[in-house]
Amino acid sequence: MLSPLTIARLLEITGGKVQGRDFSGQISHVGIDSRQVIQPDQTLFVALRGAKADGAAYIPVLVEEGVTCFLVHWDWKIPAELEREATFIQVEDTRAALQAIAAYERSLFAKPLVGITGSNGKTIVKEWLGQVLSQSYTVAKSPKSYNSQVGVPLSIFGIQPYHQVALLEAGISKTGEMAKLEQMTHPDLGIFTNIGSAHEEGFASREEKIREKLLLFAHSKLLIYCRDQEPVREQVESQFDRERLISWSARPAADFSISVKKQESLSKLMLMKSDLSTFTFQVPFTDTASLENITHVIIAALTLGQDFPAIQAGLDQLKPVDMRLTLKPGLSDSLLIDDTYNNDLAGLKVALEFMSQQRPKRSKVLILSDLLQQGLPEKIYTEVAELIRSYGLDQIIGVGKEVKRLEYYFPDRFENYPSTELLLAALDPDAFQNDLILVTGARPFAFERVVNRLQQRIHGTTLEINLNALTHNFNFYKRQLKPETKMMVMVKAFAYGGGAAEIANHLQTMGADYLAVAFSDEGVSLRKQGIRLPILVLNPVEESFDLLREYQLEPVVFSPEFFKKLGSYAQNHDLQLSIHLDLDTGMHRLGFEQSHLDELKDLIVTFPELKIASLYTHLVGADEEEHEEFSRFQLREFMEMKTKIEAILPYKPLVHALNSAGIVRYPEFQLDMVRLGIGLYGVEVTGKYDAALKPVSTLKTSISQVKTLAPGATVGYSRKGQLPEGGKIATLAIGYADGYDRRFSQGKGYVLIQGQKAPVIGNVCMDMVMVDVSGIEARAGDEAVIYGEGISLKELADRIGTIPYELLTNISARVKRVYYLD
Ligand SMILES: *Cc1c(COP(=O)(O)O)cnc(C)c1O
Repeated sequence: MLSPLTIARLLEITGGKVQGRDFSGQISHVGIDSRQVIQPDQTLFVALRGAKADGAAYIPVLVEEGVTCFLVHWDWKIPAELEREATFIQVEDTRAALQAIAAYERSLFAKPLVGITGSNGKTIVKEWLGQVLSQSYTVAKSPKSYNSQVGVPLSIFGIQPYHQVALLEAGISKTGEMAKLEQMTHPDLGIFTNIGSAHEEGFASREEKIREKLLLFAHSKLLIYCRDQEPVREQVESQFDRERLISWSARPAADFSISVKKQESLSKLMLMKSDLSTFTFQVPFTDTASLENITHVIIAALTLGQDFPAIQAGLDQLKPVDMRLTLKPGLSDSLLIDDTYNNDLAGLKVALEFMSQQRPKRSKVLILSDLLQQGLPEKIYTEVAELIRSYGLDQIIGVGKEVKRLEYYFPDRFENYPSTELLLAALDPDAFQNDLILVTGARPFAFERVVNRLQQRIHGTTLEINLNALTHNFNFYKRQLKPETKMMVMVKAFAYGGGAAEIANHLQTMGADYLAVAFSDEGVSLRKQGIRLPILVLNPVEESFDLLREYQLEPVVFSPEFFKKLGSYAQNHDLQLSIHLDLDTGMHRLGFEQSHLDELKDLIVTFPELKIASLYTHLVGADEEEHEEFSRFQLREFMEMKTKIEAILPYKPLVHALNSAGIVRYPEFQLDMVRLGIGLYGVEVTGKYDAALKPVSTLKTSISQVKTLAPGATVGYSRKGQLPEGGKIATLAIGYADGYDRRFSQGKGYVLIQGQKAPVIGNVCMDMVMVDVSGIEARAGDEAVIYGEGISLKELADRIGTIPYELLTNISARVKRVYYLD
């Protein structure tokens, strides 16, 4: 919510001009997503322009829903019929205006505001600091990782007058962005978490990246940083006055010098100030990254004046749990959204929005605990009730005393349990069938137990799909193209192993134009799971003609014989069918060749029931430089064939030729549409833009047992593994039946444990594999990363003479897929 704004004030802030009807009320909500508007009569809808779409397109619908106030670009033509219905503030740039409103709202908040940036750890530092501070204060914080040019304004609108401290994270992807975030946020206290070594698209060098990030603190009174990262220290200390800096280091010569004593599952962290006063905290972590993050948290809490016992009480509640919003398979075909670590109003809104984007299910269920430390309960639960109403939830289960207030709003849909124990005692997982269930609760309610009860048993191995990374990659390819070029996305082979239904659903919300599958069954399954986009089937067979018709799938036709068969079928059933013609220009797999064109001409006349929706060809070597000449030959051949076919057709089909590699190599041939495949899943096969894509899938398993190996002892079948000096091995819960290729045997492959490489020892078994963990602190139950961040699919594929496509699509169906937003 905002502090209420009149139109006059909004004009002053944005420098805009007003058109249309008079608006005498006050604005207390800002919306940027047409599906998310809560109190239409008090909402200012900001029409943002993005790579994909113009938010202004939704204005007519929003007017119908009762929104009457809009912020638009001055060159957007206001439709005459809307001019009488609504008020329009016209500005040069709506995003800049949104930021100006945020800057104004921020200026009204007089309590401390903490700004957090850095390469890694900003979200976790923000979340943990929020948890610790909430022992003593009411805290506002950005939901999830809302840290962008648009995320930050939305986070600022979540700060309420009753909050006593606000935590905002700031993330940038290129030069020039941080100054804008600084103007909006003006942090009083800054935290610079760290700098990654990876080269990032958008920055000339690591130095430039640090310089840009530090702009966030241009006006901060104090900045907390770690002196041990040399490039960070150098720039921070040369740019900022000594009095503004609070440094820490594992060595002496810092405002806080830190020493750590690690124990079984916790560490003792001793901080010594330069005046020799010391503080010792116990923290529930032993790994380096968590210890670095928690040190930032503790120093920030001390700086904000929180007392020692309250900080320790807050630390005791932290757990290294997953704080991502995760979508998991539940029992009885239900889908679970796990948000057990986050519940403030802003976080709840994000989770509900994520819920609304999922595939349709029988009913929507919310399991919610008391919202803790959020200020006045009367007000909070009125807002929660509004959210529940606007997202159309069917059933609400509340746990706690305060949340019981919802009963008043939803007497027929609400159940209450005083505690998580009592809910668990009463919870019958079979009561949910094919439902969509959001579980969201404050930390002390330990809702992970509720999730455990409702989720499918997940065996040691999971494939995690990062939906933010998927969006990032989709947008990367979108940026290589003209705005009007359509995007078909290949979701064949279970969406390259990622799980077809969830990925197709996400693509649908992102604005893909077409999907493609290999076989009709794959298309049928997508339709049954609520996917509405047009679906092309690459390899249909005669037996599936009924399915094509029943499920509105669009087959590829690749030969005159097949054209005849499908044409006769359509004639006999009195149907129109949309089809796509595959033109063979060099793959020599399926497809019409030049010599078929005369026959094709007759067929088109004989079977007008078959409407040719598109013509395409497929490049055989777009990923490799050495095939450049052949690719160009294929493209010429294709253009020639398509011109001949177009000359016979009384209408214009779409034409397309490029796969992922083709998009980056031959953008001049983007034509009407492109067919994105492997690139979406994070592998840039040409190698030209490796750093621009983000890995989407992480395959993880866990250690079942750790053993000490005597010199000369052998490991696994056929006695192929040995450590001549002896050592330590770990047995992992993954084998070739899960898709872990047997060719990784005997040191060809490795996994990551505690961030360190552990090579495969011996032969990969059906359900297990052994790795060498000599020198790594590994324990049973620890996680091992098989592919994903830090362990490149391309490199692994190379090691065993295959391609990333094969590794991805081989991950077996018994490996559970979980989806998350970070
Ligand atoms: C699989 C496939 C694609 C996508 O290829 P990528 O290399 O994964 O981008 C495009 N077109 C056709 C016809 C395909 O079969």
